[in-house]
Amino acid sequence: MPKRKVGWARRVPLGQCPHCGQTVDAISTLAGQVPKPKPADMTVCLGCGEVLQFDEQLRVRKMTATEIAALTPEEAFDLKQTQAAIRDFLASET
Ligand SMILES: [Zn+2]
Repeated sequence: MPKRKVGWARRVPLGQCPHCGQTVDAISTLAGQVPKPKPADMTVCLGCGEVLQFDEQLRVRKMTATEIAALTPEEAFDLKQTQAAIRDFLASET
């Protein structure tokens, strides 16, 4: 699988990852332009690689196992790709 880079992009309201405590104030994407986040959009923490979801104020919160299980196969695939890229990135930082 080709390596994909994680880059910086769009600012979001200041929040904190409920998994690792990492400050979340920007989002990024693996390819192309970063879309403006909407409530219920998913993202992945750059600190720990866990999946997060935006609430109504665009602050991040944990997704439940039920919510993750309800993803479409395409969403689940994208999520896995994103998590793999972030975990590669984190591994390269240490
Ligand atoms: Zn985290």
